[in-house]
Amino acid sequence: MKILISKRGGYCYGVQRALKIAHRAAQDSPGPVHTLGPIIHNPGVVKSLAAAGVSPVESLEEAGSGGTIILRTHGVTPQVAADAGKLGLVIVDATCPYVKIAQEKASSLREQGFLPVILGEHEHPEVVALIANAGKDTIVVDKAEEIDPEWVRGKKVGVVVQTTQASVNLSALVSRLSPVCRELLVHNTMCNATQKCQEEALRLAREADAVVVIGGRNSANTTRLAKLCREVQPRTHHIEDVQELDPEWFGAAATIAITAGASTPPEQMEAVSVWLAGMDASRSH
Ligand code: SF4
Repeated sequence: MKILISKRGGYCYGVQRALKIAHRAAQDSPGPVHTLGPIIHNPGVVKSLAAAGVSPVESLEEAGSGGTIILRTHGVTPQVAADAGKLGLVIVDATCPYVKIAQEKASSLREQGFLPVILGEHEHPEVVALIANAGKDTIVVDKAEEIDPEWVRGKKVGVVVQTTQASVNLSALVSRLSPVCRELLVHNTMCNATQKCQEEALRLAREADAVVVIGGRNSANTTRLAKLCREVQPRTHHIEDVQELDPEWFGAAATIAITAGASTPPEQMEAVSVWLAGMDASRSH
């Protein structure tokens, strides 16, 4: 059996950076250190970070005053950052620089007289922060069909994209908006890491008889990655952990591809590869 491991899957630049920032904060901060929400969608990593002295809290109030609060890669609204300061918390900002760019573009749209349209998941924390930067009356759509062309007919419209969106969704939105808008400004704020990971996953999925996608089920980028792979290779399985793998999924598959979302440590990809190699060895006995 051939095992294809994506070189672009797993930890992205923003996640690696945030984990380094969190470990440094644990060493350097005198008081308690928390992340506002789990630092990434990976229970194992959250647990080991807690052992190093950085635990997640669900609200600023839960963090109490006098400690340090780490802001995650997704970023927060300006209001949350201001509230943290008022509570006397030291802010360590691990917002991914790509997310920061998207926030800046969102806030510039209104100033330039554009009606902001955000392409992203309505409740996702990154999108919530983008909306806060873009201002009220911002239109948010998860897919192109959600927007009624009459809402934007004859208007100057500016688009900002959640960093982990698939490029096919942006193309569909541009096709829908361009015939009706007076002016259309598109900030393609999708991050390079996501695009490269998706492109490579699709390439491997076309070559493979089955695909394993590793990452949290509550991770937006992993879920999207699995959906994209499934469109090319229906035998795509989204797992959180190697223990979920089932030999029956693979039948006589000769080539199996492995990829992973941005919150997945390299050890988990390696563990899946080892498991598949072990299954192959037991098949040939
Ligand atoms: S997926 Fe992209 S935008 Fe999101 S944290 Fe990673 S590098 Fe940053």
